[in-house]
Amino acid sequence: MPRLVETVEETRQALKDLRKKATDEATVGFVPTMGALHRGHAALIDAAQKENEIVVVSIFVNPTQFAPEEDLDQYPRTLEADLKLCDEYGTDLVFFPKSTEMYPDSFNSQVNVEGLNELWEGEHRPTHFQGVTTVVSKLFNIVQAERAYFGQKDYQQQAIIRQMVRDLNIPTEIVNVPTWRDEDGLALSSRNQYLSTEERQAALILSQTLKETKTELQSGGSILTDLKQKAQQQIEQAGLEPDYFAIAHPETLKELAVPQPQIVLLVAAKAGQTRLIDNMLVEL
Ligand code: AMP
Repeated sequence: MPRLVETVEETRQALKDLRKKATDEATVGFVPTMGALHRGHAALIDAAQKENEIVVVSIFVNPTQFAPEEDLDQYPRTLEADLKLCDEYGTDLVFFPKSTEMYPDSFNSQVNVEGLNELWEGEHRPTHFQGVTTVVSKLFNIVQAERAYFGQKDYQQQAIIRQMVRDLNIPTEIVNVPTWRDEDGLALSSRNQYLSTEERQAALILSQTLKETKTELQSGGSILTDLKQKAQQQIEQAGLEPDYFAIAHPETLKELAVPQPQIVLLVAAKAGQTRLIDNMLVEL
């Protein structure tokens, strides 16, 4: 089993010990998570394990990235199963802080990546990314890893973290890991466990629509407003409530008026009470 630590001080000491025991060239690979770990998280840990001697996973359901009406209290917490998965994929250290450890009463700083945080997810969850970038900066400073692993599943989040690391000269390399999907195409998410059987079935429309739109673009579809409208209608007809379907630039995330060689398709929709996101890259 990996070593479990709950404080910043213990984490720093444990990392010092691990680095001392390892070779001089040893690197630390870090996987930040909110727990309720699934095969998608395992893919990140696996990638970290293959590229680094030391693997650190953090499990922290970060309250500041949830809006008051969101699912902070219901968010699944499954520490024992998480530790088992961490063990199975080769984790040395799990940082599992309490909220008070990360946000003592005196806490009074925020990290904010402007611009990218206003689009898509930012429009629907206005305080979300500030919570993410603040906690990720803290975690990066605590773990001081050479590499950190993020899933393509949260495309905009990763784009924002890449911008933050560039802007603030954070010496941690961001590594992308492709989205892990169930066999029927549904992107794995800790929130999938909220879905009823019917909602899960309906949710398949998201990956299907992304795939279809990708195929249409690749076969010459160029009226992007039409493609977008069709995608949104299809999602609605399946019984989901779309927040957005975007055909965007893969780095700026700005909506495209005409196709270009590289595109990202971004979607968010609600299946019942559960909000799901997915995305797909398209090369023309
Ligand atoms: P979360 O615990 O949901 O905050 O996610 C922690 C990390 O796991 C983030 O970098 C996510 O992008 C990544 N992740 C979540 N689901 C998947 C998935 N299905 N495939 C790949 N990475 C994922």
